[in-house]
Amino acid sequence: MKQPLNIGNIYSKKSLGQNFIIDENFLKKLDKVIKTNSGTIIVEIGPGKGALTKYLSKKKLKQLYLIEKDTKLAESLKQSYKNNSKVKVFNEDALRFDYSYLNGEVIIVGNLPFNVSSQLLMKWLKSKNWPSFYKKMILMFQFELGKRIISDSNLKSYGKLSVATQVRCKVKKILFASSNIFHPKPKVDGVVLEFDPIEKYKNIDYLKLLDLLNKAFLHRRKKIKTTLKNYLHILQELDIDSDLRAENLSVQDYVKITKLS
Ligand code: SAM
Repeated sequence: MKQPLNIGNIYSKKSLGQNFIIDENFLKKLDKVIKTNSGTIIVEIGPGKGALTKYLSKKKLKQLYLIEKDTKLAESLKQSYKNNSKVKVFNEDALRFDYSYLNGEVIIVGNLPFNVSSQLLMKWLKSKNWPSFYKKMILMFQFELGKRIISDSNLKSYGKLSVATQVRCKVKKILFASSNIFHPKPKVDGVVLEFDPIEKYKNIDYLKLLDLLNKAFLHRRKKIKTTLKNYLHILQELDIDSDLRAENLSVQDYVKITKLS
């Protein structure tokens, strides 16, 4: 379904999660927390109409890559930045984009399309080599999803995404984004999180960890003696009580189980 916008003559596509930031104060705050130097490469995901891009392009940096799936918006960005040799626009799907040739001081930034935001995050966390190609990520999510990503154990919000993220990155909430700052206005608020990759668990078999998390959290109300019945000997060896539920195990517990399995 298309909804007319009051900015320019472009429509907002729900299917592409298009909620554009229209609050300059918020943009200024977001711009301030993105620290760069002359070697920084910023990869902006879903720049849309370029609300944040306008600030990013004025920062000290080496390159600014814009990855936008919507052809009309990508064309318009190409026009706007045709005289800025640091800016490169890719009319591509960020889920399929080949990030492998990027390295250096890369920061991934974006007000992510909500319908693919967790898929995008998992793609960047799953990276075969760790540490990955980026030094930092500053990303906007729907508030509830953000809460799940940063959640501690023993909470309802703690799940696969919390562990999968926290094994790879130190993550913190940096800005709250009221739904009023977007157009069209979404049903829910947003939150901006900052991800700093960590190397503490860099040798872990990440896919094995994800497999374990899938099993543990598939039926989160069940005890792990049922959901992780194939791991009982490991739980015993690690002295983890099998009467616990998936949400009671720490990130460290999941790392230890993965290492022994
Ligand atoms: N950054 C802009 C802003 O804050 O105003 C727009 C953010 S809007 C929430 C998400 C943007 O991502 C839209 O411009 C949409 O077209 C784009 N998008 C959606 N799916 C995408 C994908 N798979 N790859 C790249 N861009 C995508």
